[in-house]
Amino acid sequence: MSLIIEKFKNIKSIINNSNVKIIAVSKTFSYDFIKPLVDYGHDHFGENKVQEVQVKWTEVKKIKPNIKLHMIGKLQSNKAKEAIKLFDYIHSVDNQKLASLLSKYEMELNKKVKYFIQVNIGNEPQKSGIIIKDLDNFFDYCTKDLKLNVIGLMAIPPNDGKEIFYFKNLMELNKSLELKELSLGMSGDFQEAIKYDATFVRIGSSIFGKRS
Ligand SMILES: *Cc1c(COP(=O)(O)O)cnc(C)c1O
Repeated sequence: MSLIIEKFKNIKSIINNSNVKIIAVSKTFSYDFIKPLVDYGHDHFGENKVQEVQVKWTEVKKIKPNIKLHMIGKLQSNKAKEAIKLFDYIHSVDNQKLASLLSKYEMELNKKVKYFIQVNIGNEPQKSGIIIKDLDNFFDYCTKDLKLNVIGLMAIPPNDGKEIFYFKNLMELNKSLELKELSLGMSGDFQEAIKYDATFVRIGSSIFGKRS
């Protein structure tokens, strides 16, 4: 059996919860490299570059329409239209301009995408995301004004040893907005994230190995 599948199965057995979806983060890896996991039947894959996805996934999706692609990286406004075409989920909705363009292109292309609002949970100046005090307003703008299908919050908490505090905070924010999904947890912390109700974990290196 492929090592990738062995690692994937191992993570699945650690998680042992059918409510938690594993997004296999395949960014930087070639399609040939990740193909064993596609052939195995896994369907959720995460990427962070629009152009890379065009090249890597366009043909595959035609043959395998069950594949769900997740945009987990920073999305520039000028790539919004292409992102609507390519992705099933966008985890990085983090500003009004982007949100309004996504809504516009959904209408133009007659396609609905599922969204996560990215929260800058540690209030870090170098990181994207909506800060907590703006979250309620931004959520209303996305859902009421733009009619985006926001299914949950997403965050990349600071790596400062206080992950549990951030996880708990996000879980509570997600609940206060009555959202069903929560995109939280990566290779290093997914087990912890699940304790705080993560429903989508984004796992790259623990499945595919180190990225160069
Ligand atoms: C790359 C990436 C991941 C996967 O990280 P690993 O540590 O390799 O599991 C998860 N989330 C986001 C937003 C990423 O950019």
